[in-house]
Amino acid sequence: MYDHRKLGRELGLFDTDPLIGAGLPYWLPDGAAVREALEEYIRGEERRAGYRHVYSPVLGKRELYEVSGHWAHYRDDMFPPMDVGGEEVVLRPSLCPHHAVIYRSRARSYRELPLRMAELGGMYRAELSGVLGGLTRVRAMQLNDAHIFCALEQVAGEVEGALGMIRRAYEAMGIRAVRYRLSLPGDGGKFVAGSEVWGRSVGVLGEVLRRAGVPYEVGEGEAAFYGPKIDVQVADGAGREFTLSTVQVDFHQPERFGLQYVGADGAKHRPVMVHRSIIGSVERAVAQLVEVHGGAFPGWLAPVQVVVLPVSEGEVEHAEAFVERCVERGLRARVEGPERGSLGARVRGARLVPYQVVIGAKEAVEGHVALRLRGGRQVGVMAAEEVVGRIGAVVGARRVELW
Ligand SMILES: [Zn+2]
Repeated sequence: MYDHRKLGRELGLFDTDPLIGAGLPYWLPDGAAVREALEEYIRGEERRAGYRHVYSPVLGKRELYEVSGHWAHYRDDMFPPMDVGGEEVVLRPSLCPHHAVIYRSRARSYRELPLRMAELGGMYRAELSGVLGGLTRVRAMQLNDAHIFCALEQVAGEVEGALGMIRRAYEAMGIRAVRYRLSLPGDGGKFVAGSEVWGRSVGVLGEVLRRAGVPYEVGEGEAAFYGPKIDVQVADGAGREFTLSTVQVDFHQPERFGLQYVGADGAKHRPVMVHRSIIGSVERAVAQLVEVHGGAFPGWLAPVQVVVLPVSEGEVEHAEAFVERCVERGLRARVEGPERGSLGARVRGARLVPYQVVIGAKEAVEGHVALRLRGGRQVGVMAAEEVVGRIGAVVGARRVELW
């Protein structure tokens, strides 16, 4: 495994600047390409799973977080309020309150449930500067978040659905969970009261895990302040564990926000909120990808997917035409011309690029290219058309294997 902070800088994925501030990384074009691919993937998966996307502001009045309970239970991790003309606004520590308010903005019927509301949105954490570093300890992050508003009897199915999405995402990303943790409340004022409701939520989560045949451990004191959760733990390059994905059951915020739906019986009922994140924050997800793959990302995530190497000046034009075809097909491709050194040196320089295409004089005349995969496997000489089509198909299917 690798250290994403060191490698992220070497590969030109992201960086920080003291003038912007600690824990506030910026993304360079290659890093932004990885992140964009990840964001597109997760939005597509969510659409297929029946989620609707919303956008909500990264600020909210302090009162919003007093209602949600964040102000009472989570204030130490929040940035201090900003006074704007006598009104106090804060950078949000989570997206739940905004989503609860969006749910509440319309009358809801049982027919709309489960209502799955997703957003890839910014959230902020007032981490102390001593602990900040890379993409894993940051003050600003983009969370792949969603809240499912549903009836009590729908909770288990929704939790199961989220676990399935997490499994598929890890497979596509080529990463693995080191353990599943059922996170319970502990002692102290960090958690909201109401033991009956906690017990019910813990029961549902435990049952889903058992039914899915997923071995899990119990983590006392690791719950969210409003409810228990399933945390999917991954390990970084140094073997330190952290939570990437999470599924949480919440009876507290629906109560606090007075959420309702009209049931089949015509009466008003309280929905349950299932909070879930499939890939966590894009910062953590990319850090994990870098540490696991050392920059040799699965094809669909690679910043540059195809590098085209004309053997000599005479084939540069053909190489450029090939890149154009790739771009047309939605691939990220670029030419490394002979001015960048010998063919061997250029191949070595592109060792992290999944597809290396060589065009010599003979190939250029015949409309062929010689394809080499990352790691050195020679696929052989083929029609340019066929190569673009096949790479496009593998990348489009988000397969971890290259060919
Ligand atoms: Zn939430």
